[in-house]
Amino acid sequence: MKIYNTLSRTKEEFKPIREKKLSMYVCGPTVYNLIHIGNARPMIVFDTFRRYMEYKGYDVNYVSNFTDVDDKIIKKANEEGLPASEISERYIEECKKDMASLNVKPATTHPKATEEIDGMIAMIESLIEKGYAYAVEDGTVYYRTRKFKDYGKLSHKNIDDLEGGHRDIKVAGDLKEDALDFVLWKPKKEGEPYWESPWGQGRPGWHIECSVMSRKYLGDTIDIHAGGEDLIFPHHENEIAQSEAANGVPFANYWMHNGFLNIDHHKMSKSAGNFFTVREILEKYDAQVVRFFMLSAHYRSPLNFSAELMDAAAAGLERIVTAAENLSYLSKNAKGDHMTDSEKELLAGTDTFVQRFEEAMEDDCNTADAVSAVFELVRYLNQNASSDCSKEYLEAAAERLATLCDVLGIVTEKEEVLLDSEIEQLIAERQNARKEKNFARADEIRDELLAKGIILEDTREGVKWKKA
Ligand code: AMP
Ligand code: ZN
Repeated sequence: MKIYNTLSRTKEEFKPIREKKLSMYVCGPTVYNLIHIGNARPMIVFDTFRRYMEYKGYDVNYVSNFTDVDDKIIKKANEEGLPASEISERYIEECKKDMASLNVKPATTHPKATEEIDGMIAMIESLIEKGYAYAVEDGTVYYRTRKFKDYGKLSHKNIDDLEGGHRDIKVAGDLKEDALDFVLWKPKKEGEPYWESPWGQGRPGWHIECSVMSRKYLGDTIDIHAGGEDLIFPHHENEIAQSEAANGVPFANYWMHNGFLNIDHHKMSKSAGNFFTVREILEKYDAQVVRFFMLSAHYRSPLNFSAELMDAAAAGLERIVTAAENLSYLSKNAKGDHMTDSEKELLAGTDTFVQRFEEAMEDDCNTADAVSAVFELVRYLNQNASSDCSKEYLEAAAERLATLCDVLGIVTEKEEVLLDSEIEQLIAERQNARKEKNFARADEIRDELLAKGIILEDTREGVKWKKA
């Protein structure tokens, strides 16, 4: 598999640290508001990457944090007159709901910054010990950026060119040694949450959180670190400086960055105010359409959000779901049970599309091409499925389609929910079948109900049923 690595700016062959194991860290949201669909982009694309690796048989350890201490959270907490923790807990829960709607699998671990403070203090102490960090009088601890020789290797910036454009530029009153030095620990201000530390009461800087959580849950060197491209500099550059100075080994072997979700060709962002929350969008569109829309572009390309593109995604998705429903309908009503030799050949004909799908995914997770391969498979299945086909063939064909869709996180089979009246009707039909000594049919109905989570109990008072 090839992955475009921001570090080398080339597509590289992916070589995991441990065979068939993948350790992956994806920077998660700062939780002070409902997430917007721009935030949902890394969630969806890297979840799809993860699903593909699992499809390939990888055991994936996927870690994605919540930044639950931050200026914006504190501001919101002060506005609402609530503790910061209440704000962050609220939006973590809301974020998890949105992720579930978008069929984003929960991470193996979702660490929260506020629960990892001890680890952050320990890493900062070791950076101070090694001469990579220093504390100043007011209780701030800074990273000594120029000491880290590889600074700029991810963002491909030359350290001497940085001074002018750096966000953390030295301002009057700063006690830092150099304009490029960034904050590892900041002293508490009135009304802010704080933790005890060797440098007084305070809280961690943003970058140190990810270095610490990545090391704790995945190890000193991990396979892949990912996030939106706005994080390359300074966040990820600073994470590298911290982790590599502290651990003495490379931090991440591959760096993957998604392009922006734009609106009118400008980055969607909370601060610019040009955003739609996932919640707002889900009032208008099915969650699967949002997911499908995101996957219709390559994850590194900019993607402009528009009603036309969403409608096109909805139409494309409809074609896939209709094909799956058709296969399911045909197989329920199929005459023959077993696959004929010619059907075996027809089924083998789907290999090409599966192969194309895999080739696309192997090429730096090209979901746009993978989606095209799914469309080709749909066309093929529409042409090669009819009421004359056997159940076995139709089921196998449906399974092929469902497997690829599952990698994309698209669900083709809606869970069938039976109404109570339908259950009663099937039970009555089963009783009749038994009276007529048609035990095969009676058993079939029992199994059919069981598959839908309905358990039958034959009692002296008659048949009772319950949900499993
Ligand atoms: P934030 O809460 O702003 O730190 O963002 C959480 C994640 O969403 C990060 O990986 C960001 O890079 C990503 N992100 C934020 N805005 C966008 C956008 N408009 N398009 C794509 N990714 C974004
Ligand atoms: Zn991060």
